[in-house]
Parts: sequence; C-alpha cells; structure tokens
Amino acid sequence: MQIRSVHFKQRASAAIANPETQKRMASLGFAARRADRVAEFGAAKFEAQRAAAAAVRDRSIGDLATWIERFETVATRRGATVLYANNAKEVGERVVAICRDHRLTKAIKSKSMLSEEADLNLVLAAAGVQPVETDLGEYICQLADDPPSHIIAPAMHKSRDEIADLFVKHHGTPRLDEAALLTREARERLRSHFLSADLGISGGNFLIAETGSVALVTNEGNGRMVTTLPRVHIVITGIEKVVPTLEDLATLMRLLPRSATGQNISNYFSVLTGPRGRADTDGPEHLYFILVDNGRSSLVGGELQDMLRCIRCGACMNHCPVYKTVGGHSYGWVYPGPMGSVLTPAFMGLANALDLPQASTLCGACSVVCPVKIPLPGLLRSLRERQVQARLRPGQEIFGLKLWSFAARHPWLYAILSRWGARVLRLLGGSSGMISRLPLASGWTSGRYFPAPPRGGTFRDRYAALRK
Ligand code: SF4
Repeated sequence: MQIRSVHFKQRASAAIANPETQKRMASLGFAARRADRVAEFGAAKFEAQRAAAAAVRDRSIGDLATWIERFETVATRRGATVLYANNAKEVGERVVAICRDHRLTKAIKSKSMLSEEADLNLVLAAAGVQPVETDLGEYICQLADDPPSHIIAPAMHKSRDEIADLFVKHHGTPRLDEAALLTREARERLRSHFLSADLGISGGNFLIAETGSVALVTNEGNGRMVTTLPRVHIVITGIEKVVPTLEDLATLMRLLPRSATGQNISNYFSVLTGPRGRADTDGPEHLYFILVDNGRSSLVGGELQDMLRCIRCGACMNHCPVYKTVGGHSYGWVYPGPMGSVLTPAFMGLANALDLPQASTLCGACSVVCPVKIPLPGLLRSLRERQVQARLRPGQEIFGLKLWSFAARHPWLYAILSRWGARVLRLLGGSSGMISRLPLASGWTSGRYFPAPPRGGTFRDRYAALRK
C-alpha cells in the first residue's frame, strides 16, 4: 500500500472538517463494550491476564527464530509448505508463483493486514487472478476503492447511506436502507465467489509452534469458507505472530476478543492444521504459509521490540482521542492509531511518517487498555527522540526544546522565565483573557483559543505560598 503518512496534517485537517467523518468516529462503540467485558471478567483478574499475555508474547519474541523454526518443522510435517518473504514485494512474488504453479484464477480473501502491506489485490489483478474480499467491511472498501480505516472495522468510515449507494452502483440492485438487508445482499453476492474460487487467502491471528497451526479469529464466518472451500489456501502473516503452545494461545484468546470488539469470544474461532487429510471431508488440498518480515526483525533487540507483542486488537485506537478525531485514513498507511504511529515509522522509515509520533497527546489511554501491555507512549517518545537526533524536526522546534531543556535544568532561570512568560501571555490575552495568536507557535492557536494565565503568580509561586 502506498504510504501517504507524510501528509498526516493535511489529511487530519480534512477529516476534522468533514462532519460525516466526525459522525462516524462518534459512533465507535468498542470502548464501552470492552469496559463491560472487563468489569464482567473482573478488573484484577483482567490485569493479571494482561501480564500473562505480555509474558507469552515476550517469550515468543525473545526467541523468535527458534519458535519460527519449530513452527516450520511441525507445519511441514503436517503437510503444509512454509515460505518466507523479506518484504512486501516478495509477498506478491510468492503468491503469484503459487497461483502460476496451481493455475489459480480467483482468490477469495478474509481480512489480512499483511495483504494491505503488500498491496496484494493490485498484484493479484496484474497477474490475472481476480481478488474478492469477503469480510463485509473489506468488501465495502474494495467496492469503494478505499483502504481500511480501522484494523478490525475496516469500513467504519462509511455511512449506511454510502454503502447503500455503493451496492446500487456495483450490484445494480434496488436501493436498500436497512443494515441487515444490505448485509444479506452482500452475502448473496459473495456466495457465488465462495463456490467458484480456487484460492483462499487469509491472515493469521497466531501461529502455534507446537502444532504447526494457524489460529483465526473472525465474526462473519467468511474466514471458514475462505480456508476450507478453495483447493489452495495461503496464510499470510507476520513472523512475530508465532506463539509456542496452545496453552499460550488460550492465554491470548482470553484477551483478544474482549479488547477488540468487547466480546467474550468471537463468533468464529478456528485452529487450522495442515491441508485436507484422507479422512477429512473438507479443507484445501494445498496449504501454504507465507511468513513476512517487512521490517519486523529489525525491531528485535531494539528500543521498539515491545511493539512486536501487538495482537492487532485495535483497543489502542478505540481509546485514542487523536484517532477518534482524525479517523484512520489520516495516518496514511495500513495501521492507524497509536499502534500505527509506532509501526509506520518503524517499518517504513522515520522520514516517511514524520508527524505520526507527534500525533498523540501521550495521555496513556492506549497503554492502559493494550492487552499485551505495550508501553505505546514510551515508544512514541523514543521515536520523537530519534526524529530529533536525525534532525528530522524543524530547527525552530529543536532550538525551542534545547532552550526549554536548559531552563528546566536551572530552576532559578526557569522561575524567572515562567514569570515573564506568564506576563507576556496575559498581555496577549488582552481584555478578553483569551489568547488567539501565539508568536512562534501559531499551529497551536490556528484552531483554538487559550485562556491567558490568571493573575496571582505562576504555579510555582502559588505552590510555595500554599506550603507556607
Ligand atoms: S498496540 Fe496493543 S491495543 Fe493496540 S492493537 Fe496492538 S495489542 Fe491492541
């Protein structure tokens, strides 16, 4: 997928000005449902589960090569073929080679963020293979030619009216207004694709080293059709998705649906092992795994390693005030929200995602809800530091931070400057007491007013007076 993260500010401004986007963001109900499930589960028990899940992920990532090797050995023994892709381009090459080997012409797909990383639909179409998204949200995005805007609710930026219009345009059917009827229409459209496709492409929520299996968490049932009906099934997933044992999988599954959609368990949960056996009545004749690096291994052993724990639940974005204001498309690549603000610069380069580490209030909500305890604000701060070290931030900002750092290390100077600063701000506030223009920081005031500091001294003065 083409990266457009350098235009974050422009895209975010457009999203903020778009009343429809704002309406869609306001309807995001995952956070409330998650809170209900956590309360039911028991907050203390949930916290203990989070710590256990983080430990599982750390154990996997701490010895990634071993677990991947174990997975490959067992999966191969069970009849699957395990391939590797170093980057997005190689993902496309592997998939196209499999299509050529088996003479495949139509691919039905269940949701896979990796396929977005690799722009797989374009690659398939160029190779003469028709890609059909079968997750309802992804299907809507495919018809609209839009990228997903949320990792678990890809079409959440679309209103019901927009979807109804899309279906009229692409299906040539009378306009329907009810969500249930629109869903049924999509299901009827997709059925013929399910029955005629010769390739199924899915992601993988987890790979289990002990059994050589892939675990799939879905809510629509399309995942089961994609993975069992066509004669060839390709699983495309990141190398970091491996976990050692089924017991580890159970630990993570207690958290994933609760954190993602606020469900105790997803409607469908499948653990698939090997292609169709002699005694099986369904399943693919050939099963391939494509394990993708695309920047992941470079995080191992570094400051951003914790990010590899991510289980793609979406909770961080559901609770992020920035995501909830600017929407997923503003982030300009596959992964939005706080996790995207770390993953995009980590995978695609700091210079390509200059504003993303700044697109956070550092309020900490993301790390509080993250089921695997990823310290997202800390990772964002570390990316900000790297930006400064690489001289990617504007000179004015670096100079300002240096000045502030100097003053903060000299309390007497800080006290003088903050008193002067408060006086200047009071002058700027004038008779209204509201500041509408800040010299050298006009970005802060271009869309908002600030109250000027009240009389009565700085915070330090008042604190000292209170203590007396
Ligand atoms: S960073 Fe944490 S909260 Fe965000 S998607 Fe990943 S696992 Fe979920």
